[in-house]
Amino acid sequence: MKTLYKTVLCGEFKTPYNSPDSVNEYRVLSHQDICCSKMQEAIDDDAIGFGGFRDDYLNHREPTINIASYAGYQTFNYHPISFCPFCGQPIEVEEKERVALKKKEHTRTITEVAYEEQEV
Ligand SMILES: [Zn+2]
Repeated sequence: MKTLYKTVLCGEFKTPYNSPDSVNEYRVLSHQDICCSKMQEAIDDDAIGFGGFRDDYLNHREPTINIASYAGYQTFNYHPISFCPFCGQPIEVEEKERVALKKKEHTRTITEVAYEEQEV
């Protein structure tokens, strides 16, 4: 299986914690050549998913395919894998696109609605 992804850099999106070349998001584009039906089911059920860890973002490390395990209180832990746990085929990830956020300002007019009392 090969997962293609897009890297979104912070660019002009500034917070106290990032720089223009910080990673804002790794976004999955597609999973190609899914190796077996169990892997497809696991992806459909979100038991296996794609993502970067905080350290990956900070260190520009490639995101990974991960197995989720329930950690209690509606939280999950994620464990990177390099091979399909069902059939043993290798898992690859490949950056297909790299973009940076650009600031764009919108000016809009709004209509507010309020209710007032009226004699009847
Ligand atoms: Zn498989």
